[in-house]
Amino acid sequence: MSKKIALITGANKGIGFETAKQLGKKGITIIVAARNAENGHTAINKLKENGIDAEFLQLDVTNTTQVQQAFDYINSKYGKLDILINNAGIQIENGDWGTNTATVTDANVLRKTFETNFISIVTLTNTLLPLIKKSEAGRIVNLSSILGSLTLHSDSQSPIYASKLFAYDASKTALNAYTVHLAAALAATNIKVNSAHPGWVKTDLGSDAAPMNVTDGAKTSVELALLGANGPTGKYIHLGQELPW
Ligand code: NAP
Repeated sequence: MSKKIALITGANKGIGFETAKQLGKKGITIIVAARNAENGHTAINKLKENGIDAEFLQLDVTNTTQVQQAFDYINSKYGKLDILINNAGIQIENGDWGTNTATVTDANVLRKTFETNFISIVTLTNTLLPLIKKSEAGRIVNLSSILGSLTLHSDSQSPIYASKLFAYDASKTALNAYTVHLAAALAATNIKVNSAHPGWVKTDLGSDAAPMNVTDGAKTSVELALLGANGPTGKYIHLGQELPW
């Protein structure tokens, strides 16, 4: 069997970088996709110091030219893609995690958030799909959040009830819809598609207030990237446990 190839978006820092490290240590070749070349190369050097086979690919996920270039590059170099981790994401609303922005959401913020957290993932995934279909066991991991769960948002007793940054939350709900639809579209293939909630993790996005470190925060992505043939597809998972949509 040929060596597995994984592409991770936003892999220069945070959960994406740690996921690259953990998957790389399992002997998988990692394509570190990052929008900033300098940060991408710094990440690659750190991974290589850890003995990981990694290479840098410049990819702003909202740039459709770069998305097509990513396809062309992987197609010509590897001819397949085994693992796609849609990790890149943003939270750009004013307000902390404990606020509700539903009545004050700015349309430009909403648009930009959806462009990065939802539309770009659909575009990148569908562009790379022909390469993932060439893998013996393709795995697509969409970095969602528990904050995309409508079931939990509508339950006043749930731990996330008070945390309602509308643009971010709705973008993850939309991403979850893509997970469900794509998994159904690919049900007859060897490809598995799942949404991951990493936990509330100490990163630039998660803030220092988060209780989890990146080592644990990357575990759900790694687990879903390495699912066996009997593993789930079309699910919403945090550390092996299913979350309600
Ligand atoms: P982070 O440390 O802020 O990292 C985000 C990554 O996404 C960075 O590499 C960033 O690149 C990249 N990115 C943003 N926009 C991009 C674009 N247009 N093109 C390419 N890359 C882009 O955040 P994180 O906490 O590791 O988050 C990773 C994922 O987990 C996100 O999808 C997030 O929503 C999700 N998540 C995180 C938490 C948490 O508590 N941390 C909880 C639930 C879900 P730059 O360095 O260039 O900005």
